[in-house]
Amino acid sequence: MSRSAHPAGPRHADVLPEGHYAAPPADLNVLDPKVWARSVARGEDGVVTVAGLPVTRLAEEFGTPAYILDEADFRARARAWRTAFGADADVFYAGKAFLSRAVVRWLAEEGLNLDVCSGGELATALSAGMPADRIAFHGNNKSAAEIERAVRAGIGRIVLDSFQEIVRVAHIAQSLGKRQRVQIRVTVGVEAHTHEFIATAHEDQKFGIPLAGGQAAEAVRRALRLDGIELIGIHSHIGSQIFDMSGFEVAAHRVVGLLKDIRDEHGVELPEIDLGGGLGIAYTSGDDPREPHEIAKALTEIVTRECRAARLRTPRISVEPGRAIVGPTAFTLYEVGTVKPLDGLRTYVSVDGGMSDNIRTALYDAEYSVALVSRASDAEPMLVRVVGKHCESGDIVVKDAFLPADLAPGDLIAVPATGAYCRSMASNYNHALRPPVVAVENGEARVIVRRETEEDLLRLDVG
Ligand SMILES: *Cc1c(COP(=O)(O)O)cnc(C)c1O
Repeated sequence: MSRSAHPAGPRHADVLPEGHYAAPPADLNVLDPKVWARSVARGEDGVVTVAGLPVTRLAEEFGTPAYILDEADFRARARAWRTAFGADADVFYAGKAFLSRAVVRWLAEEGLNLDVCSGGELATALSAGMPADRIAFHGNNKSAAEIERAVRAGIGRIVLDSFQEIVRVAHIAQSLGKRQRVQIRVTVGVEAHTHEFIATAHEDQKFGIPLAGGQAAEAVRRALRLDGIELIGIHSHIGSQIFDMSGFEVAAHRVVGLLKDIRDEHGVELPEIDLGGGLGIAYTSGDDPREPHEIAKALTEIVTRECRAARLRTPRISVEPGRAIVGPTAFTLYEVGTVKPLDGLRTYVSVDGGMSDNIRTALYDAEYSVALVSRASDAEPMLVRVVGKHCESGDIVVKDAFLPADLAPGDLIAVPATGAYCRSMASNYNHALRPPVVAVENGEARVIVRRETEEDLLRLDVG
């Protein structure tokens, strides 16, 4: 079990130490399959294609910037998670990573469930026909209106995040003559990111009810007394972009410890355990994510072993991958506007988007890769920083990468692994128009979220 101190906070999962970028790859034309969606390839003519469609044609038809999503890859990844966990477990796709009605339909068809954490996400899920009993509702401050709507809709579960919410949900459900299935989200004192985690006694963050100090046990005591809710399990989510399974091991150990205490105190064996999401993906060639079947095997073994030791029946497991399903399936297509060499430093490449379509680099120092996709090039590699067009010097899309030295305005470049937390976190900063999401499958492209227009902007501004 690895335990290493990490001086940075949870936001710093993807930090690259200052000035330590990798050496340029041997051939800049090669696309690493680890970071690109499965149907992406470079054609004979040097132009990159997705499911057979050249990016040059996509740019012509849909404009740039645009998120290009490989539908077959999305479905394959969703199915791989579903298959890996089998019939005795549930896979909830975390809608906050990226949600649209097309995505909801793909999930419903592939047998996945869905996590939402706002009224807007719930509305999207219901409007696309996801059965309410396959939806879970998260969040640390759900409004009374959101709770009422979820309960009325017959939502599968609400994940309770505070003492107030236990009473609030119970009261609302009871007044509607319902008994709402709930889980309690606990914080287990594990903070995981990337290749390491720290186990602590306390967690200084807003989500969940701490196991420490008997608070979670007290929450369970209260929940079990209320008629409006049925407590079906305990929920734990330990972080994001995690590669190391040992954080889940400690989390499962502690959650099962609580299940055992509940059995001993109340004579009740809760039937479910939710281990959350947070499984990592490859943003650069240096990342080595695990396959869903390895993750499923590891998590199932951990829970089974812990329960056997505690003499508990193994509860039904659920997991909540977001990034691991959608992240690798999309890339952002940009057009290069300016190329500005700064002597002895690096070359700044400005694209027609930026922090409005990908805030993760500015927000978390996230790492990304980038490639020239509208043509091949034999030019020497040059060290670049890909930046956006916004009025912030922190408007960086890719901090350190290599592109061919003959890069010029009008070239198309693409940033892979932008399926998660890019469109869903996109903003209108500088009155940017949020880019479309174009789903490509089997030689056909269709817009699943259209580009914002100036009309959209002005419609909100009532003057
Ligand atoms: C964000 C979140 C997830 C998904 O995280 P990923 O890193 O996208 O897998 C799952 N569960 C909960 C409760 C979350 O808050």
